[in-house]
Amino acid sequence: MADWTSVLASALDEVEYGIVLLDKEMRARFINRAYHQMLSLPVPPAGKVYHYADILDFARTVALWDIPASATDSYVANRMNLVQSGAQQPEHLKFRDGRIFKFVCKVLPDGGRMLTYADITDLVQTAEQLQILATVDDLTKVLNRRQFLASFESEFNRAISHERPLAVMMIDADDFKRINDEHGHSVGDEVLRAVAERCRSIIRKTDIVGRVGGEEFAAALTETDLPNAVQTAERLRRGVAEEPFEIGEARLRVTISIGVADRHSEDKDAGQLLRLADRALYAAKARGRNQVVAEPR
Ligand code: GH3
Ligand code: MG
Ligand code: MG
Repeated sequence: MADWTSVLASALDEVEYGIVLLDKEMRARFINRAYHQMLSLPVPPAGKVYHYADILDFARTVALWDIPASATDSYVANRMNLVQSGAQQPEHLKFRDGRIFKFVCKVLPDGGRMLTYADITDLVQTAEQLQILATVDDLTKVLNRRQFLASFESEFNRAISHERPLAVMMIDADDFKRINDEHGHSVGDEVLRAVAERCRSIIRKTDIVGRVGGEEFAAALTETDLPNAVQTAERLRRGVAEEPFEIGEARLRVTISIGVADRHSEDKDAGQLLRLADRALYAAKARGRNQVVAEPR
């Protein structure tokens, strides 16, 4: 009858998870085939066994992990510590080639460790795609309404706790119904896409832009007081009004109206700030469109 240990070892070689069994001195008493393949780790010469440190060294040599080169020393030290301490919290390991593994370390009764690595790349990528679908507006690729409101609320709370300025703009395309009527809905869609792009190019990367209605956008300007927000809004208004949009054969002139409001220390609620910006937007429409209005306090 075959020796039970070798039966177990061959069985573990058939498993798709990477498995490493370490003794209490952190020497690898068993490494399964999936783990060798995962790292392209050579099988050691007969009679030799890897220490866990050798495996980490190998991973470092082939630049396995998705980390900056300067962080490698502390990363390796940290991995060694984690395994030695027997921390059993699952972790995600990111490889430079894009693969992601769920790593779990179990302490064995004899003081050794069992390390398992499950490939969860597809799962994580699907989750990331779902996350994008759930947060980004399909047409314009800026945040959708729900995500904009959520992000704005966190910015608002951050601004309160650090006592920092925060401004918000509500942006609405003027006479958009006419653009659709004259050029068709799909040209209208292209215009919306181009307007969003212009917002993004004029507004800083750290600011938050969202599509909050059909032809309505909002932008949260972090670290920005009212005069600076009005300046940005004015730049955006001009950037749209002065440069026609070329959609297919058509050259379209589009204008936008913008309402601006900034956070005051007595403001307790993100929604209230948005309502103030909305009121300013209505005023901009009432005053004839293609203009920026700041909400007076
Ligand atoms: P105002 O200057 O007062 O904002 O006039 P408006 O015509 O832009 O405003 P109104 O609210 O009367 O109409 C909004 C128009 O925006 C009507 C609607 O068909 C169009 N619209 C809303 N969402 C979309 C969209 O996703 N694609 C296109 N092409 N048009 C849209
Ligand atoms: Mg409109
Ligand atoms: Mg509107």
